[in-house]
Amino acid sequence: MSRARTYLDWNATAPLRPEARAAMLIALDLVGNPSSVHGEGRKARAVVEDAREAIARGLRVRPADVFFTSGATEGAAWALTPNARRRDSKAPLTALLASATEHACVLQGHRFPAASVEMLNVDGDGIVDVAALETRLADHGEAAMVAIQAANNETGVLQPTARIAELAHAAGAVFVCDAVQLAGRAPCDAEAIGADVLILSSHKLGGPKGVGAVVLVGERVQPEPLIRGGGQERRQRSGTENVAGIAGFAAAFAAATAQAQDFAGRAARLQQRLEAGLRAIRPDTVVFGERAQRLSNTTCFAVRGTPAEMALIALDLDGVAVSSGSACSSGKVARSHVLEAMGVAAPLAQGAIRISTGRDTTEADIDAVLSAWAKINSRHASRKVA
Ligand code: PLP
Repeated sequence: MSRARTYLDWNATAPLRPEARAAMLIALDLVGNPSSVHGEGRKARAVVEDAREAIARGLRVRPADVFFTSGATEGAAWALTPNARRRDSKAPLTALLASATEHACVLQGHRFPAASVEMLNVDGDGIVDVAALETRLADHGEAAMVAIQAANNETGVLQPTARIAELAHAAGAVFVCDAVQLAGRAPCDAEAIGADVLILSSHKLGGPKGVGAVVLVGERVQPEPLIRGGGQERRQRSGTENVAGIAGFAAAFAAATAQAQDFAGRAARLQQRLEAGLRAIRPDTVVFGERAQRLSNTTCFAVRGTPAEMALIALDLDGVAVSSGSACSSGKVARSHVLEAMGVAAPLAQGAIRISTGRDTTEADIDAVLSAWAKINSRHASRKVA
């Protein structure tokens, strides 16, 4: 990346880690198909299985629980299905209970009929209404699948997954957790999260794009396959494995999870510097989800009267890459369904900017965005006076 640019959009995607690049370059030169029995095939198979083990180790699950996919969107499309075999129940799944701030790939509900998807409200800080979840679980019991993310991509707000898991399991329901933004940014242990199914993506933690995993923790739940064909991934996800992508994902995952604790501490100091700086420029700055527990790498904020679209272009021209709302809809600055669910009024939500840091972010990067932001605000103020 050019030195002149300041990249602060790590929740959209993280630059490739050197460990991932190195692992991919080796894997790219493997000629075999992992399903072939000859030596070339066995070498490719070994890369895939080593990767599975590395990811399982980081999450503290069994390697057999990890299934590779093309990313989290496919992971959600696979996991969110009423057709799942369950170890502890034969009841059909007839309701999907999803928080209103889920990523669009979860909000789709996928193979659940639209009428069976029930949205759970969040409070002003983005935390899911746990009392409402309890009520819905009392209605649906074992027939419910709960889909609640670990950390929000726009605000960084962390959901109380251990409590959600407790409630879901007490009711006999299934808990699917999108852990895409948590993994590699804070400690991410499958048992601590408590979900039956975890959804992961490689590119958010410094691996390549277009690869991810679904983790069926302890095989308590087995969703019906989404992609059928050659029977790869123990017949759960067909298609020749993306060997280089999987190798890069695992290398990035291992490095990111090993450094997650340390990273979270460093990112928290940068977050404090950033948020104090934003308030010094505009005392009326609103940081969304501020009173909730948040990822320390994410700040989503707004000031009245500065539309995000204008600010993003001005920041970009000044060499600073940030995002407004969900990066998956970048290119168009649409109103964020996350902020809407949090009850943020439209005029303020239209100004929402997300700054997300990563392993290479320095104080100088924070100062660069603050200096660019100060210029935008002084231009804006002088236009108002004129
Ligand atoms: N879930 C969350 C929380 C995300 O932030 C994203 C990507 O923005 C996804 C899911 C989708 O991930 P992928 O790009 O691997 O399909």
